[in-house]
Amino acid sequence: MSMDGQVRWDVGKSLWFGGITLVALVGAVPTFTPSAFVLFAVSSALTLCMGHSVGLHRGLIHRAYRVPRWLEYTLTYLGVLVGLGGPRGLVRLHDTRDFQQNQPRCHDYFAHRQPAWRDYYWNLHCRFDFARPFTPRVDERVEADAFYGWLERTWKWQQVPWAVLLWMVGGLPWLVWGVFVRVAVSTTGHWLVGYVAHRHGYRDWHNEGAAVQGFNNLLFGALSMGEGWHNNHHTFPRSARLGLHWWEVDVGWCFIALLRTLGLATQVLVPGEGTRVHHARMLR
Ligand SMILES: [Zn+2]
Ligand SMILES: [Zn+2]
Repeated sequence: MSMDGQVRWDVGKSLWFGGITLVALVGAVPTFTPSAFVLFAVSSALTLCMGHSVGLHRGLIHRAYRVPRWLEYTLTYLGVLVGLGGPRGLVRLHDTRDFQQNQPRCHDYFAHRQPAWRDYYWNLHCRFDFARPFTPRVDERVEADAFYGWLERTWKWQQVPWAVLLWMVGGLPWLVWGVFVRVAVSTTGHWLVGYVAHRHGYRDWHNEGAAVQGFNNLLFGALSMGEGWHNNHHTFPRSARLGLHWWEVDVGWCFIALLRTLGLATQVLVPGEGTRVHHARMLR
């Protein structure tokens, strides 16, 4: 079975996520200022929405729309600033996760079945070593692109120029809140949305034969730029739009719709026959 394998502690991941979170926990309160908080809120929203949700997830990973190369690079760069990884690594990880979740059996590591504390530890401090080599679908264009190769090698270092700039402009408060608190909250939040959206919420669709069903989560759906409408995403993985009902607020989709209005985004894919996985069945 391709699902067999072991969860192993990953020193590099643990030092990165753990170190940044530790600095954020220790430094956030003593360095709090209103301007540092605004900087944190605005930079988190921009990197998570334009960068991670739209650029990396809906764009690079699912190819749900097309934009000019300069804009694709800009959005991907913003996504890398979230601090989760480089473009090639994130595409491979997402494809691995998608494949595993859609099998009839799926390891708890990819299915988020364990209690929150263990799922947090597994996702941000461990990796999954497959018993038999598993090769995810790779995106040749992302693998061949020199800019994405550079981002892949340097994704952790991409925080440094911003750290220096923020420190020079706003001192320690801007450095701590603009880099450490932002990356800690964004990466922990990314895990939390994934954890909740695979466990709690309502479903309009059932994906036959898939071990893992996503849920549409009222608490996190809108907060996560639309990413928490996750049952919709499991059903229409290639759709640029994740919120389907009027209450399923989807900020990422609003941004893509704006890009389309401006003539910058083309071939925008929306929910329908063409983007639905073949084993999905409507529940109501
Ligand atoms: Zn999922
Ligand atoms: Zn996805």
